[in-house]
Amino acid sequence: MSLEITKLAAGYPGRRVLQGVSLPELNGGSLTALLGPNGSGKSTLLKALAGLLPHQGRIKLDGQDLHGLPPAQRLARLAYLPQSLPRGVHLRVVEAVLAALRAGGHSRADDLSRVEAVLQRLGCEALALQHLDVLSGGQRQLVGLAQALVRQPRVLLLDEPLSALDLRHQLRTMALLSALAAEREMLVLIVLHDLNVALRHGSQAVLLQAGRVAAAGTPAEAITPATLAQVYGVQARVEACSQGHLQVLVDHELTGM
Ligand code: ADP
Repeated sequence: MSLEITKLAAGYPGRRVLQGVSLPELNGGSLTALLGPNGSGKSTLLKALAGLLPHQGRIKLDGQDLHGLPPAQRLARLAYLPQSLPRGVHLRVVEAVLAALRAGGHSRADDLSRVEAVLQRLGCEALALQHLDVLSGGQRQLVGLAQALVRQPRVLLLDEPLSALDLRHQLRTMALLSALAAEREMLVLIVLHDLNVALRHGSQAVLLQAGRVAAAGTPAEAITPATLAQVYGVQARVEACSQGHLQVLVDHELTGM
């Protein structure tokens, strides 16, 4: 499983955001953190990959250009979780996840047990019979993740899936995503705000700046004092904590940027 992104340009009417983004080849089993300041193009990149925005350049999945892929086949391979989820309709969680599973025309006898299994792995089986429209933001985020995961996509595109989660659920979700990436040979591309989460859980990291790639590589290669100064305009240190995990410590804003 491989995803190649070459000279990708995309944006909105009258506004080009991605200015020719090329990434090192991404492989199944990896978890790539997509980082960068507000407005650098992270969401736009995921939307372009999900097929929601017209784009130029090449996106190849297993050597096949996604341009030539019918929408149904693209949907079967990629799952996309947007940043802002719709304010839930009056459906039970289990029904909403089942509907997501069956959206591609799929229907099998074990569908319900697949839904239950994914809710359990996300630690939200207790929500199964609750209605979506009464859930908290964090709970809806977990259900959105369940809807994406239950389809067992080859490529999982997640736009800030941790933003409304408490610390425990953030940790649990990242551990689950890493485990599922390895188990299913799934490729995870995830927009994160927290650089320390990227350092801890990412197998790769990509830093975007104004629609271009400013750094890419392993998280330790991409997240350095020099790239943080260039991309975020801050003076920061990247140091190992007492348990040996790299951590970003921001000292101050750089002036003149
Ligand atoms: P990020 O996810 O890195 O915060 P985005 O990809 O959301 O950045 O946005 C990149 C740029 O595209 C921003 O300048 C933003 O204002 C612009 N943009 C985002 N969505 C739209 C839209 N629907 N129409 C026009 N411009 C947009």
